[in-house]
Parts: sequence; structure tokens; C-alpha cells
Amino acid sequence: MHRYDAGTEVLAEAVMSYSRDRMSYQHVPLDSPRTAAELRALVGETVTPEGMGGEKAMRLFGDVLAQACISTDHPRYLSFIPCAPTKASTLFDLVVSASSLYAGTWMEGSGAVYAENQALAWLAGLAGLPPQAGGVFVPGGTFGNLSALVAARHRARLSRAGRLPGRWAIAGTTNAHSSIVSACDVMDVDFVGVPVGPDGRLTGSLLRAALADSGHDGVFAVVATAGTTNLGIVDDLESVGAVCEELGLWFHVDGAYGLAGLAAPSVRHRFAGIERADSFVVDPHKWLFAPFDCCALVYRDPAQARAAHTQRAGYLEVLSQDDEWNPSDYAVGLTRRARGLPFWFSLATHGTQAYTDAVERTLTVARHAADRVRASDVLDLLHEPELSVVCFRRRGWTPDDYRAWSERLLADDVGFVVSTVHAGETVTRLAVVNPETSEADIDLILDSLV
Ligand SMILES: *Cc1c(COP(=O)(O)O)cnc(C)c1O
Repeated sequence: MHRYDAGTEVLAEAVMSYSRDRMSYQHVPLDSPRTAAELRALVGETVTPEGMGGEKAMRLFGDVLAQACISTDHPRYLSFIPCAPTKASTLFDLVVSASSLYAGTWMEGSGAVYAENQALAWLAGLAGLPPQAGGVFVPGGTFGNLSALVAARHRARLSRAGRLPGRWAIAGTTNAHSSIVSACDVMDVDFVGVPVGPDGRLTGSLLRAALADSGHDGVFAVVATAGTTNLGIVDDLESVGAVCEELGLWFHVDGAYGLAGLAAPSVRHRFAGIERADSFVVDPHKWLFAPFDCCALVYRDPAQARAAHTQRAGYLEVLSQDDEWNPSDYAVGLTRRARGLPFWFSLATHGTQAYTDAVERTLTVARHAADRVRASDVLDLLHEPELSVVCFRRRGWTPDDYRAWSERLLADDVGFVVSTVHAGETVTRLAVVNPETSEADIDLILDSLV
């Protein structure tokens, strides 16, 4: 079962040729979900004592299972946040798998960890953090936010020893991503909701007022969002960071989607104040052209995170002998895939200027979409786009109208655009993170709304 023999060679050919074909499509079909009953009828039971053989399993995957998964890299997949990995990063993902890398510790994975850390250093440098900043690639923003907030609470426990509050709390806006409230649940801490201003942004003065109003004595961290998922709104990081510094609160910036904009000169000013962050996250699988699943979690002072996350066990003692960089010490989790390597390989291959150009290209296309919406008689722009998300209303449409339109787009293999809810109203949005998405793609979608 493990030997590289003639059977494996046949399988390698099938897998490699499938992968090559999938990657070389000009436009991969969008595909669409099927019900479990449909899949059962088409595929049946696949896990059996004898096994069905790799060729048959590969065929079932290609002919049925893969086609029941929407292609997130299609240029007119504009829902949620799409995924648009570079060919270099996708190819290198195969190498990561082929190499059985263990990237939890320096001892086992120093080469992989060294390269991952260079990619993290690029991001930390874009944010203007000091040279000792560092962190780890985790599966997603949800894990990254949780891990950062666990580190924050650990610091608070130490600094407030002897005068611990009855309950700990995290402050964040009512616009914060659902993963923040979910982190509060996991950590069993309170969430202090801070209202945003009329422009949807959190500011230092709103934060200060909300903290005073709440009367909560256990707030240890503030989460600002650098690019909300729905509208792409960036909080005022400068003033929020200043208030955090003044009050001794951990300043975490959730930039899972938006912080990729650090690489783009045309929007870099929106992130002024990011250099004050104690920690931030950005997902290369969102707007930095890496395959799933990849979130960069970066700390200003990694020693504080290490104090919170290092696991102690007899069989691990050999690993904690000196100050080598063990990625597992910086987040929840022990065993880890070198999930930052596909991103690193692509960065090393193309250079950072190509990343700047690609992010700018998506911003140009998003501005085109906003212009078209503004010029339309039937569409209303709901927020001047700050990044590459464009959210708007189709005048006169009910939620059913949006649903019917969305289903038709997918059924016709035109695009994947779903509705969203903004201020209680069903509306729709386009999230442009794929440099292959063109102005013509946007026009095709918008023309279908009239
Ligand atoms: C996507 C997103 C998250 C969650 O990230 P995952 O990688 O999906 O876990 C958190 N915050 C923001 C602002 C996001 O856009």
C-alpha cells in the first residue's frame, strides 16, 4: 500500500494529469451543489473493505464529486470572498503534500519554517511592525483571531494578577466578523459591542465612550476590523490604536480579507495606525492569491504569544531547549501543515511587485463596478467602496427576486453572486479578489440585473 510501484505510477499519472487539466482551463465551469440523495444515487458507497482502486475513485471525483463543488476561482465567482490562487502557489501545494513536512517545530521543519517566516516578515513589514514581529500560518481568520485573543488574555492575566476582574471581556464593533463573538464563546468571555459611526467605522472616541458606558472592568482587548466582509469598511486604526495604548488594552486588527490592501499604494493610507497593532490576521487565501487554507497571524511581541500557547508535555521537552522558532507556540494547535509554503513559493517566484500589481488590478475592477452601479437607474450603491467589495441594491427587488436571479446566473454558468443582508435589507454585493476578473465580467453580471 505504501510502496512506489507500478500501480502508484498509474495513479500518479491520473492524479497529475487531472491536476494539470484543472489548472489549465481558461475558465473552469462554475459547477453547482447537489443534494446528498443525488450524490448517493450517482456515487453510492465508496469506502469498502476491498477498496475500489485509485483510478475508479479518481474518476468518481472528477466526473461527479468535483462538479458538485462550486469553483471559487472562477472569475465571475463574486460571492462571499472568492479564492484566486496563483498557479505557482497551487503547484507548490502539491509539493507540500508530497513532502510530508511537519511544520510545527524548528527541529523537524526548519527549512519550511524559515521560508514561511520570510513570507510573514513581508506582511509584518508592510504593516510597519518592528523587526522582532512574527507569528504563524493558521487555517483561517477564525483560528487566527481566537489565537491572538487567547494571547491577549494571557497577558492580561499576568499584568492584572492580584486584581483579576469577575469576567473578562473583548470589545469589538457591531460590524465585527462573526468569528469574534464566536471566539468570546469559546473563551467564555463577554463581548462589549461598540457602535460604529455613520460611516460604519469604529473610532477612538466611540471606543472610549462605549468602554465607559459599559462599566465593564474586565476588557482586555479591542478588535478593529480592517475591511469588513460585507462592505469592506476599514476602522480608524490610528485613533483606536491610540486609545488602546492609553488604556493598556491589547489592540488586535482583524484584516482577514482587507489587510491584503497593505500591498496596494492606492489604498494603503486607509490602514494608517496598523503599525500600532499588538496582533493582526490576514488570509492569503482571500486576497493574496494562495490556496485554502492559509491565514497569517502576526504578533508585535511574539514572546507574549509564546507564553500563552506553548504546550508542555514530557515527550515535547526535547523541543523546548532553546529559542528556536516553533510555530506551534504561537497559536492554538500542535501538529501543523506548512500551509504558508504555497504562498511563500508564489511570493518568491513572482516577487512582491507582482502582488502589488495584482491587488491594484482588482481594485481597478471594483472601482469600475462602483462606477457602473452609480450610473445605473435601477441600482443604488450602499457604500463608497474602500477596498474591493461593492455592495448595492437593485431597486424594487424582494429577497425572492435576488434568489431567482442568483440561481439563474449559476444555472446558466454565468456567475455566482448571492444576496447579503445590510442594515436589515436584502441586497447584493460583488467581492473582487481575482485578478482574472475583468471589467467585461462585471458588465455581464450588472447587465443581468436590469
Ligand atoms: C473571512 C473573515 C474572517 C474569517 O476567516 P476564515 O479564514 O474564514 O476563518 C474573519 N474576519 C474577517 C473580517 C473576514 O473577512
